[in-house]
Amino acid sequence: MNEKIIDGKKISKERKEILQEKVYKLKKKLKLVVINVGNDPASLVYVAQKEKMALEIGYDFLNLHFDDILEDDLIKEIKKLNDDPNVTGIIVQLPLPKGFSKERILNTVSPLKDVDGLTNENLLKLIKKEPTLIPCTPKGVMSLIESYNISLEDKRVVIVGRSELVGLPLFHLLLNKNATVTLCHSKTKDLKSYTKNADLLIVAVGKKDLITKDMVKENGIIIDVGINRVDGKLYGDVAADAISLLQLMTPVPGGVGPMTVISLMENVLEASKLQDKKHF
Ligand code: NAD
Repeated sequence: MNEKIIDGKKISKERKEILQEKVYKLKKKLKLVVINVGNDPASLVYVAQKEKMALEIGYDFLNLHFDDILEDDLIKEIKKLNDDPNVTGIIVQLPLPKGFSKERILNTVSPLKDVDGLTNENLLKLIKKEPTLIPCTPKGVMSLIESYNISLEDKRVVIVGRSELVGLPLFHLLLNKNATVTLCHSKTKDLKSYTKNADLLIVAVGKKDLITKDMVKENGIIIDVGINRVDGKLYGDVAADAISLLQLMTPVPGGVGPMTVISLMENVLEASKLQDKKHF
């Protein structure tokens, strides 16, 4: 089965080495700041992972953690970071605690430092094919497609899940590469009629076994973005036995996950280049 695996772990490792070399050659040290409000246990783990990777790449890293903060004070903190020439990239760790306006807070981050690619300005640029910072998971999926030389123009591409974090930006990224894309979601009737005809199926929902073997196209390709934790084990959205019918499939874990982290690190360097162009 190994020849059928899209190995995100291996590709992310290769990309990490390339990035380390580029960062090593820079004249200045780049800095990533993560703002984390509250004590969500999963967020603490994710921030620690980002810190480890950032330091390995050769970036400076600051974990700006607040047990509690007023929204207006948080906005002021973000503005300070926007104005600080020593800060290259800013992430607001999600989820924010209840009561915070995610939309307002995310859109306070300077689009030039928005390494998660979540500001409205950057989403618009992505749609318009302008140089921008692309959200990390969609960027990671596109890197996998490129690494495995998966052609797009000749394929029926189906995405399941339309979130602003994954499905929606992916739809535009694929469209911009001349793929013919169908975007399915929770209100889609007869999901199987779409997935069964997908040459390339990308699933980003968060429901274990949403896509069963009978729903996939023979010899198709699947990129499974979903992460579902059941009894301490991780699963994607696609039933594991589907792989026997397929040409290629990402595993969970070890598929899209590692690509998301490396894409974030690539975005820090990208942000620095965009800032240089704007004479920040
Ligand atoms: P979300 O909850 O914001 O969006 C889920 C989407 O799935 C929605 O658009 C919804 O319409 C759609 N959906 C829900 N039920 C459906 C159904 N029965 N049929 C068809 N569509 C349905 O989630 P998200 O943030 O986009 O994340 C999706 C999954 O991807 C989650 O499991 C998340 O953990 C995972 N994820 C993984 C990574 C990674 O690095 N691997 C990164 C981000 C998200």
